[in-house]
Amino acid sequence: MHESLESMQARFFVLSGHVQGVGFRPFVYRLAQEYHIHGWVENWMGQVAIHAEGDADYLQTFQAKLIKQAPPHATPVIAKTRIVNCEHYAAFSIRSSNEHTPSTIRIVSDLPVCEDCLHELDDPADHRYRYPFINCTHCGPRYTLIRHLPYDRANTTMAGFPLCPQCKREYEDVTDRRYHAEPIACPVCGPALSFDHDGEITTGNAQALQACVCALQHGDIVAVKGIGGYHLMVDACNDEAVQRLRDRKPRPHKPLAVMITEQDLPQFVLTDKDERALLSGVEHPILLLTQKPGNALSKLIAPNLNEVGVMLPYSPLHYLLLNEFARPLVATSANISGEPVLTDNNEVATRLHHVADAALHHNRPIQRPADDPVYRVINSKPRAIRLGRGNAPLELNLPFAIDKPTLAVGGHMKNTIALAWKNNIVVSPHIGELDSLRSQQVFAQVIEDLQELYQVTAERVAYDAHPKYSSTEWAKASGLELISVYHHHAHASCLSGEFPAEKNWLVFAWDGTGYGVDKTIWGGEALLGNSGSWQQVAGLRQFQLPGGDRAAREPWRSAAALCWEANLDWQPAIEDMQLAHQAWHKKINCATTSSVGRLFDAAAALIGLVDKVSFEGQAPMWLEALAQQGDSEALSLEMDQDDHGVWRVDWQWLLEMLQDNKQSQADRARCFHETMALAILHQALQVREQYGDFAVGLSGGVFQNRLLTERAIEQLQQHGFRCYFPEHVPVNDGGLCFGQIVEAHGMADVTKQ
Ligand SMILES: [Zn+2]
Ligand SMILES: [Zn+2]
Repeated sequence: MHESLESMQARFFVLSGHVQGVGFRPFVYRLAQEYHIHGWVENWMGQVAIHAEGDADYLQTFQAKLIKQAPPHATPVIAKTRIVNCEHYAAFSIRSSNEHTPSTIRIVSDLPVCEDCLHELDDPADHRYRYPFINCTHCGPRYTLIRHLPYDRANTTMAGFPLCPQCKREYEDVTDRRYHAEPIACPVCGPALSFDHDGEITTGNAQALQACVCALQHGDIVAVKGIGGYHLMVDACNDEAVQRLRDRKPRPHKPLAVMITEQDLPQFVLTDKDERALLSGVEHPILLLTQKPGNALSKLIAPNLNEVGVMLPYSPLHYLLLNEFARPLVATSANISGEPVLTDNNEVATRLHHVADAALHHNRPIQRPADDPVYRVINSKPRAIRLGRGNAPLELNLPFAIDKPTLAVGGHMKNTIALAWKNNIVVSPHIGELDSLRSQQVFAQVIEDLQELYQVTAERVAYDAHPKYSSTEWAKASGLELISVYHHHAHASCLSGEFPAEKNWLVFAWDGTGYGVDKTIWGGEALLGNSGSWQQVAGLRQFQLPGGDRAAREPWRSAAALCWEANLDWQPAIEDMQLAHQAWHKKINCATTSSVGRLFDAAAALIGLVDKVSFEGQAPMWLEALAQQGDSEALSLEMDQDDHGVWRVDWQWLLEMLQDNKQSQADRARCFHETMALAILHQALQVREQYGDFAVGLSGGVFQNRLLTERAIEQLQQHGFRCYFPEHVPVNDGGLCFGQIVEAHGMADVTKQ
């Protein structure tokens, strides 16, 4: 051995940047061979880890060449490096990636401010003391400021901020922790805050921040520019201020997210270790948490709910703001209802002037919006309810190689889009409801962007079979090869895509609305088979629902429709009842539906909880919160086969129970949930008897309901079923694009056979 023991050293590296899917690990391997270095290289989530041991001088050359001689498409950045103990490996090896980690990540999501930067932020002696845009190679914005590849500063929205000598030195020094930190900035050369209060502008970072805190203390509503867009912020403990925000938006009931510092968290919500880890993890998401009884948050933040959406500050600006304000702040996306979050200073001024009293702007442009991601813990695991800043673009491996690059344009509500090539798929952040012009513009921009960022040109587009969705219209005008996918087939295929080991499925695809194979409105189907070959084997008894789109906003319509269908009397004092009854009777503007979402609406109306709602999902969310306080056993619903051999669960026995005033509202809400969970079990048992073994999947927006989902899974497992629930993609329509890709591939496969 030519290495003396004294000169032996071991180093551990984590490399970020473009280091996956670009031949980087083989390059590292060759480099290690060249310098007689032993150890290993391994793909991590979006990064590459290396353990290298060998002669100290060789090791230093190895480290330098890792950067300097990297393959053409790789732009590695040393995110971490430290001396470690020698493990005395006999050779250098490429370790296979953990199979659950995506292997071709190229675009990094926005990262929360790191510990080192926070330390500097609080250090009066530091150059970046209290600087709201401090960042380093471990942290800071990424996806929301990249304009083009490669990911170099010149190709980001930081291009307009030439580096000062100090930043330049740090940026160019391999040993510095800001080496090639593309968004590097400091008070001398970087972005700055300005505070606009009715046209009165305060500049200077410290002054603008102070003016903002002052306004918030007065109960003002402030639009605050963050990483992926603006928030509307207001004192979360001030009823009057929160009410004013609700009145102005207008947003009478929909829950508002709250930003709380880590140290204040225990005063307001109940958390366990896993939840705290998720909150402070790489995504810093909004997490739905149970409120601590008697906490000081305004009751207007989440009316009629036991939970509240909470996030920790994730940008240095948020840290400064929260610490200065010293109380939780409402931090809801600054948007027009259902649209993507606003990102542009002028747009905020023109479109939100009636909502916000003031705005805290900064001059670092946001290239594309990214809303905060949302999670809810269901069946012991955090489930993505919304993808966004921190977890999107969500990059996953497909369990197959797709034959040509394919785009999937999702549904109409909670729209996200996906791009798939080879065995890669990326899912965009939440875009929103595609009703408005701005939503459609962002939708089109994200489609362009993903193709540009990943340097993949789609040749085919998968879209929802609904003929009137604007995403469908976009697809048909795109000139790409078309593949139409049924809404609930896509929901079902989310599971076969996430859990490819299972080959035969029974998926309960329960949601509010989707265009069905028989041209009726589906939402309560049980589908047997696998991607490309779904067969409806069970479902909810269909009913006529009058009122078209208004039905989703007016739960009383679903309640009335079920009662008329069942020849039952229901006489609440509702103005349009007579008119609706005539329409129902003559089948004018009526849809045939089997939607479980509408059944939840009906249940909420029948127990007297809510007649009309102001946001999607309100009736089921309120019903679930109420049911958590109730105590009741399930009813066993009848089930019959229809003319097509489909088992139909009859909801009729629920109607009488729901109207039974002798039982408390909470008990009736509980009974409804227990009954629906049992109905899932009964269908699964019936189908198993007829068709044999399968895995059970739960997919569709209805399963955001934790009580229903956990009760269903518990009983299914007791009866020997293997149960699955989406883990990476949202269970709601935010996951449709992923399912569309999996289904499109399955359909092509089935055709080939
Ligand atoms: Zn940092
Ligand atoms: Zn600088």
